[in-house]
Amino acid sequence: MTRYCTTCGSPTTQQTEKQNLWVCENKHDNWINPVAGSIVFVIKDGQALFGVRSIDPNPGKLCLPGGFIELGESAEQTAVREVKAELGIDVTVIDFLGSYPSTYTNGRATINFVFIADYTAGEVTPGDDLNGGDPMWRDIENLPAQDDLAWEWYADAQKDLSEWWQRKPGK
Ligand SMILES: [Zn+2]
Repeated sequence: MTRYCTTCGSPTTQQTEKQNLWVCENKHDNWINPVAGSIVFVIKDGQALFGVRSIDPNPGKLCLPGGFIELGESAEQTAVREVKAELGIDVTVIDFLGSYPSTYTNGRATINFVFIADYTAGEVTPGDDLNGGDPMWRDIENLPAQDDLAWEWYADAQKDLSEWWQRKPGK
């Protein structure tokens, strides 16, 4: 992939000693950092909610609600906003599970902040991106197989969710 300098528009070269630094012929530094997103495990009665993707990439695969963090927004606000937009329900963030690096299909590096949120209100109604099938609640102790998931990094997040659930008091 050719990246162009944001200062002068010249092509840049990736530096070998610093993989996220790209420098143009005029010696301008261009730092390429991951785009941050918030992704949510909505939970209720020991189950987590998955939508079904309707769009590329990976249509038909199970997908957690989430999206990129907008300017001026906290990661927690993104989480609540995206759940409402993609599944039509209200949630309360109760914990931060972890952060998971990945690469989007356009080659852009992303960092996914995963939150756990309690379902609080509303009827599950999938939005445009997640109406590839009926959303489904899955037991946290029996989460979907990798082949059914939209993204590879979900496997790590699911493992961490399972461990979080085991530690959770009063469940
Ligand atoms: Zn330049």
